[in-house]
Amino acid sequence: MKVCPCCGNLLIPKKVLAHYGRYIEVDQCENCGGIWFDKYELYSLNPDEVEKFSIEKGVNSSCQPSYCPNDKNLLRLLKDPIIPKDVIIYYCDQCFGMWLPFDSLKRYKEYQKTRIQKFKEENRGELPKDLEKKIEILLKKGEEDLKEQNDLEFEYKMSQFVSIVLLILRILSYFIKK
Ligand SMILES: [Zn+2]
Ligand SMILES: [Zn+2]
Repeated sequence: MKVCPCCGNLLIPKKVLAHYGRYIEVDQCENCGGIWFDKYELYSLNPDEVEKFSIEKGVNSSCQPSYCPNDKNLLRLLKDPIIPKDVIIYYCDQCFGMWLPFDSLKRYKEYQKTRIQKFKEENRGELPKDLEKKIEILLKKGEEDLKEQNDLEFEYKMSQFVSIVLLILRILSYFIKK
């Protein structure tokens, strides 16, 4: 059983929906409300599932995590310019698991959702349907390819990858309009 890096309580496994209809099992502390994600789970969690982690007791966001529930390695604060400033993410540089207080998870997933929506709106009506499908497949494949790699930079690479695809889309839609 995994133990909460903040308050030492046992973590409760919760089955939630991820990308492409898959299910993942993440662990939550029902004392402080913090959530532990194993490698890649944070990125793939479906944003609509976040409310499943709200706890009756109320969350304790000021809780400072210490050691990784998997390997007792000291957790570090993730500093990434891409992630909004009010989102607190701790990570383990051994197993690449991540720890988030509930409200940070909420903000992070909100941010992820907005990015996807913005992308869809910006490109609405500009792209032929079959091209949209192809891009979706490309993105899915990109995500899976990146998973093969063995480092924490997955989230970062994924957002880089999305930016590149966006750039290609811009160029393509320019030519299509002409
Ligand atoms: Zn806790
Ligand atoms: Zn670890």
